[in-house]
Amino acid sequence: AEAALRQAQKMEAVGQLTGGIAHDFNNLLSGIMGSLSLLEKRLELGQVDQAGRYIRAATSSVNRAAALTHRLLAFSRRQPLEPRPVDAHKLIMSLEELIRRTLGPSIQLEVPAGESLWPTLCDPNQLENALLNLVINARDAMPSGGRLRLETVNMHLGPDDVAAQRDELPGDYVCIRVSDTGSGMTPDVIARAFEPFFTTKPLGQGTGLGLSMIYGFVKQSEGHVRIDSRVGEGTSVALFLPRFEGAVGEVGTAVGAAETPRA
Ligand code: ADP
Repeated sequence: AEAALRQAQKMEAVGQLTGGIAHDFNNLLSGIMGSLSLLEKRLELGQVDQAGRYIRAATSSVNRAAALTHRLLAFSRRQPLEPRPVDAHKLIMSLEELIRRTLGPSIQLEVPAGESLWPTLCDPNQLENALLNLVINARDAMPSGGRLRLETVNMHLGPDDVAAQRDELPGDYVCIRVSDTGSGMTPDVIARAFEPFFTTKPLGQGTGLGLSMIYGFVKQSEGHVRIDSRVGEGTSVALFLPRFEGAVGEVGTAVGAAETPRA
């Protein structure tokens, strides 16, 4: 029964994804059809000087449709996960320079020392992607500056600390929390934030794929993700990645191996 439920949830996610694309694509096609039929009418009436605007409108819709399929291709080309023991704090430190540059001078970055952090088991490349996506979202939420805090802590979650209805399991986790002092999210936006292609950003700026990819990554890593946000105060997104229980000696080499090309 549990496997069937999981399969149903997977189908729902796929359905939501393809449904969303079909909808957006259809809108663009209707727009193109509309422009072309208006263009035809103008030409029939001999109003050639009016043709330009309809051609431009159609071209713009075609470009948007092309951008949509590109995003879709990037989404389906996701590499398979290659989980290994990862020191999350070390990984964050290696990204610090890039994060600072992404944030720009008006956003202050705080990275408290992640002392005696448990190793976690996940794909380091996907974790990097996830963190950069969270940083970009935080930056976008703070157009006039603010503070971004990136902290890593060990966390034991007991049966009372997890939301069973969201498939969260009790256990030991490394919690990576990205907190900003930005615009925050309404409850409606929080409820839809993990949906593929859900975005509140203007066309061309948001893909709506960041958080849905992060959701997929943490679920496949047997962890979970939580959003805590208040409008006007800020947002905090926490990734819970399972503790790696293997021998500690393996960690150093495995993390090192993540930085060198695969054998
Ligand atoms: P995108 O960033 O391309 O819009 P995401 O899936 O990453 O796609 O995010 C979905 C939506 O969630 C965003 O459009 C935004 O409305 C909201 N959101 C995500 N992160 C934040 C944040 N740190 N602060 C405020 N809103 C956020």
